[in-house]
Amino acid sequence: MTLQEKYIQKVLPYLMTEVPDGEVGEFYKNGAKAYNFPCPFCWGTTSKDRNKRKRVAALLPTKECKHVYVFYCNRHGSAECQRGRSFENFLWLYKPRIAEQYKFEKQNI
Ligand SMILES: [Zn+2]
Repeated sequence: MTLQEKYIQKVLPYLMTEVPDGEVGEFYKNGAKAYNFPCPFCWGTTSKDRNKRKRVAALLPTKECKHVYVFYCNRHGSAECQRGRSFENFLWLYKPRIAEQYKFEKQNI
């Protein structure tokens, strides 16, 4: 398991519970596992529960390297998810405490 995969596993439980009845879906893209879930940044901008729970955001392995992930939201509903972000950048925005651990571990490999 790569470091990014390890940290994706750490944030999935948060992404799952971000929205009431939210779920994380798994699928394959570019030869690796990808995950989709309700967007942690813009789910609150929609009023219907059904739309809040919609799995509009995803962590996707890149074409160039299946071990490098990017965050992407199809709704672009808030400033944080207007554009795609590197996994690390996403971590800093979403869970700074976990991003600190990630940075530390990355430096010590
Ligand atoms: Zn979003």
